[in-house]
Amino acid sequence: PKYVYEFAEGNKDLKDLLGGKGANLAEMTNLGLPVPPGFTITTDACRYYLENGRVPEGLDTEIDEKLAALEAAMGKRLGQADDPLLVSVRSGAKFSMPGMMETVLNIGLNDDSVRGLAAQAGNERFAWDSYRRLIQMFGKTVQGIDGELFEDAIDAIKQRKGTTDDLDLDAGDFKELVQTFKDIVAEHTGEGFPSDPREQMRQAIQAVFDSWNAPRAVLYRRQERIPSGLGTAVNVCSMVFGNLGMDSGTGVAFTRDPASGQQGVYGDYLQNAQGEDVVAGIRNTVPLADLERIDPASYRRLLDIMETLENHYRDLCDIEFTIERGRLWMLQTRVGKRTAAAAFRIANQLVDQGLITLDEAVGRVTGDQLAQLMFPRFDETAERTRLGRGMNASPGAAVGKAVFDSYTAIKWSRSGEDVILCRRETNPDDLEGMIAARGILTSRGGKTSHAAVVARGMGKTCVCGAEELDVDTKNRRLVAPGGQVIEEGDVISIDGTSGEVFLGEVPVVASPVVRYFEGEIDPASDSSDDLVRAVHRFMQYSDAARRMNVRANADNAEDAARARRMGAQGVGLCRTEHMFLGDRRQLVERLILADTDKEREESLAALLPLQRDDFIGIFEAMDGLPVTVRLLDPPLHEFLPDITELSVRVAVAESRGEKHENDLRLLQAVHRLHEQNPMLGLRGVRLGLVVPGLFTMQVRAIAQAAAERLRAGGRPCPEIMIPLVGTVQELEIIREESLRVLREVGEEYGVTLNYPVGTMIELPRAALTAGQIAENAEFFSFGTNDLTQTVWGFSRDDVEASFFSAYLEKGVFGVSPFESLDVDGVGRLIRIAVEEGRRARPGIKLGVCGEHGGDPASVHFFHEAGLDYVSCSPFRVPVARLESGRAAA
Ligand code: PEP
Ligand code: MG
Repeated sequence: PKYVYEFAEGNKDLKDLLGGKGANLAEMTNLGLPVPPGFTITTDACRYYLENGRVPEGLDTEIDEKLAALEAAMGKRLGQADDPLLVSVRSGAKFSMPGMMETVLNIGLNDDSVRGLAAQAGNERFAWDSYRRLIQMFGKTVQGIDGELFEDAIDAIKQRKGTTDDLDLDAGDFKELVQTFKDIVAEHTGEGFPSDPREQMRQAIQAVFDSWNAPRAVLYRRQERIPSGLGTAVNVCSMVFGNLGMDSGTGVAFTRDPASGQQGVYGDYLQNAQGEDVVAGIRNTVPLADLERIDPASYRRLLDIMETLENHYRDLCDIEFTIERGRLWMLQTRVGKRTAAAAFRIANQLVDQGLITLDEAVGRVTGDQLAQLMFPRFDETAERTRLGRGMNASPGAAVGKAVFDSYTAIKWSRSGEDVILCRRETNPDDLEGMIAARGILTSRGGKTSHAAVVARGMGKTCVCGAEELDVDTKNRRLVAPGGQVIEEGDVISIDGTSGEVFLGEVPVVASPVVRYFEGEIDPASDSSDDLVRAVHRFMQYSDAARRMNVRANADNAEDAARARRMGAQGVGLCRTEHMFLGDRRQLVERLILADTDKEREESLAALLPLQRDDFIGIFEAMDGLPVTVRLLDPPLHEFLPDITELSVRVAVAESRGEKHENDLRLLQAVHRLHEQNPMLGLRGVRLGLVVPGLFTMQVRAIAQAAAERLRAGGRPCPEIMIPLVGTVQELEIIREESLRVLREVGEEYGVTLNYPVGTMIELPRAALTAGQIAENAEFFSFGTNDLTQTVWGFSRDDVEASFFSAYLEKGVFGVSPFESLDVDGVGRLIRIAVEEGRRARPGIKLGVCGEHGGDPASVHFFHEAGLDYVSCSPFRVPVARLESGRAAA
């Protein structure tokens, strides 16, 4: 196989092979944009290396050939003593992993070529600075030496010279540093720094391969659900220099604002600096717009290129560029990461500009992003004490206790605290702390700094570059310009949308997107936010495109009404046990504990009117739309007193010589009914079969409520659903009773109550015998919560808190199967049940009402599996609408 591609040989569609960076460098090269020449080593080579511990046969020869071609094109050889070609060696995986893997710059320098470089550039300082950077980067990333050792050496020189600024160091200082660095390397490796340029390159390439499995890269991939087997490509690119003087520099640009999506010129520029200085957020940058003043010709050229790229990629692009003595070079581009709001706005703008179709636009926004837009934001009318302001790097409203290092962020968040991670700047080692924190605040670095890029990728609130806030990590405190001191543990609020930082907890209000869904904002009115207009447009498109209906899980009239405003087309699950919480719990307790028929009938009679009135409210809220009412499904323990507490109470009373008859009786009953494993015990249809009159009471309440609604001129559409059925016999008994009650109540009221009776499919046996079950069910609703629990043998109440984090860490699965449907296992059973159910009863209505009904990936599966609807919590209804549309489009 071919392992090495010149830039001109690739294109943007070869990301699997060349990685994102390599594929896009190739694309830019072929667009005729100024890209320094170079070549890309494929991900195949990396995978081979990682599997076999050595590079594939022939790779070195291929590299030699491409290097020779590069040298011929540039008219100089790698490390040539009088005029060296220098190269960078950069990682570049298929999916961008900002700062997670390695890069080595200035390869080709040694004691000889450094002099050649100095002579060619006419700049001693530059040459020796470049050389010490090479030894430093090489030592740290290739030879695994602690980076602090190099930093300390630089600090020592600065201290001696009485300065804190790198720019005050001269050629002599860098020469001295080169020697010091070489000594450090020799001491820590025994081999020293390799002076042979080709050897430098060989080792750097392997180090990039190795960095694919660096702990922080592994963690990042798990977070972002990037498969671990992809490997990285390696880009070898001839160096251009942004650190040749004030007429040189380096920068990052976006074709639109990645935070808000607004059009304009966005980016950061740093004069007299090299590559990583900008992204690392080490020195403070100037806004890109300032480049117009600094170097107008390059600025115009850059704007031109940005337009070319946007039109070509038909999307927001982000760009890294370098200006070497007034000449502009493109070092990278890619379709850029963006916030949820920017994603919606940009897709909408591109449709308006005629660059993409509405169909493509809807493909570019996700349900997860929509969910983010529905988060609350800070109340602007609340009284607030502003501590300061930084850049609005990643939107959202985060409140938490200030912490000043990642370790504390992780520790505190594990014990249930919300924390805001405050740093001067973040680096890739802070990743875990960033994941643990509610939000991130930095005092240095621009919108393209590590903190900003990573936070946006994670959808985490971030304010960066808040220079007026003095983040003092040593003393674990933050000092505001107003003199307020925030100690570790003090609560602050950060607004990633405005960049503001507030003292204490600021109250939050609903987002405009939620207010739009609630019908409080008219998207057609002129004043409405363009974000709301974009959401509206895409929702309309999805609603028209989707095949599946979207219903809501709602247990009371208020939730049902809200769900309907959010676009729900009915209730897919009304959990009647939720109607028995609070005061009514005692009624259920009495029912379960009843010793005599009389006692039981009394409790049932007391429950009936309460149930009926609840149903009336829900049917009214969903008038004309189906409401699936599930008969009682409590694992008994949810309704009985806790056995330990009750035992203690009885024992204490006894020790005092008292005797509480009621408690004693209760305790006996609780003992009798106690289950080791209540989730697999007496619940669902089993309860209906052993507690006489319970389910018929509920069906009667449904029937009476429907009859009342009919009398009032309404259009109730109840569906009666039996939970936890494992075999058709269970269903048959309850179904016959239910139909009888419907008939009886219909006769009492003089109306026809002809409502479907169906079942949940939430046990493996039900799925496997769906053909039989369908003969007695007019509909199926997949209860994927219990189905996941029983297919995996995972207790849904226990496992997530107990060992799932270990499972996620070890990569057993990338996401909990309770969150996102396990397509291979649980999904397979669903497919079987769909097929056999439809065969037995063509036209049977099929839905899902487990938590997965509102999960984007699962919604796509349900669409493919051929379900008629999904049902989810009211706030997820818009997400499910959008994703059902995207799945169908
Ligand atoms: C389910 O099991 O998926 C379901 C919807 O029912 P519940 O969560 O109430 O058990
Ligand atoms: Mg269930």
